[in-house]
Amino acid sequence: MMSERALDAYHDAARHCIGNPSAAHALGRQAATMLQDMREKTASLLDIDVKSVVYTSGGTEANSIAILSQLWRRSPKRVIFSSLEHAAVSQHKRLLETMGFEVVVAPSINGYLDVDKFRSLLSDDVQLVCVMLANNVVGTVQDIPALVSCVREHEKLSGRRIHFHCDAVQMIGKKDLKLSTLDIDSAAMSAHKFQGPRGVGLLYAPSGSLESLSKGGGQEHGLRGGTENIAGIVAMNTALEDIRENIHQDAQHVLHLRKLLEDQLYATRGIMPVSPRVDDGKDILNSVMAISIPAFPSEVTTRILSDNKLYVSSGSACSNNAKRQHNRQLVDFGYPAHMANHLIRISFGPSTTEEECDRLISCLRHIASGNITNVMR
Ligand code: PLP
Repeated sequence: MMSERALDAYHDAARHCIGNPSAAHALGRQAATMLQDMREKTASLLDIDVKSVVYTSGGTEANSIAILSQLWRRSPKRVIFSSLEHAAVSQHKRLLETMGFEVVVAPSINGYLDVDKFRSLLSDDVQLVCVMLANNVVGTVQDIPALVSCVREHEKLSGRRIHFHCDAVQMIGKKDLKLSTLDIDSAAMSAHKFQGPRGVGLLYAPSGSLESLSKGGGQEHGLRGGTENIAGIVAMNTALEDIRENIHQDAQHVLHLRKLLEDQLYATRGIMPVSPRVDDGKDILNSVMAISIPAFPSEVTTRILSDNKLYVSSGSACSNNAKRQHNRQLVDFGYPAHMANHLIRISFGPSTTEEECDRLISCLRHIASGNITNVMR
């Protein structure tokens, strides 16, 4: 949900900054100045170089620009995707293969990339590696510094540069993250994941080695042609500002809700954990928790919850459009198949209340017991 402050900022900018930044007249110049101010602000809020900021229409487009940039290469070679990737990355496999690339999928175990297998896939002809920071379904966080260091070590031996792309969509705003220290070549972000507006995002492109397939008016260093969504960018910055200010207190609140959900749900017969628990000592997003309820298929559970005004998903919201895919998804992440069709993903944030969690716990307990008469609407 968009924060009130981001909404106000959007409204104000849409009303008062009406020019096209590419236009030469006064309104255009005003918009161009605003855009440049916003770019500097984004860079400062994310602690990255201003030249590495490429505004996009969201995480999907940011991922696409980075991946499809490879199609300019004259000799297609090997690409490695982690098996955890969101469809915004994994769905590029078919096109890349059609264009002659060999796409290999690095396997995972219980939501974490198998680092030894990953290392063994690093052949001398690898051009691109895509590993997401935090998974959108089970909330596992990958050890990107360790994976990048495997890649950079390999580069030293092969003498060839490998582009390391990271889908950071789920991570921004959830944990303190300094992108510029990761030594990655690009990363994707999306404003609606941190209480900004939908349809705005960012490609972090510090290496300057990308070239977009989509061509237009040369905006965003030629990487994303098209008139910029200034109101969206302003609102995204406001949301980023809020994160900076509140990240520690928001994290405490989310941790409290996570513990409440874990304590209450895992004490219930018929509810199985899928995501690691907070106390397992693994790196996770506390705000994303996946469980499995064998009593009913995911679709039934989500429908009952929705009728009770509790909105969870049966995988990633984006892949709910492609059911067969999300049922396979959990298996691809390295989980047993029997969990996949009963998967429920609960995601929550700073605006989620304890009362909402209590209602969810009560409904899920009824569902897990198989007695749903009290929660049918
Ligand atoms: N990557 C991940 C991990 C996501 O969770 C999502 C959306 O949920 C996307 C990419 C797509 O982002 P957008 O909806 O901004 O295109």
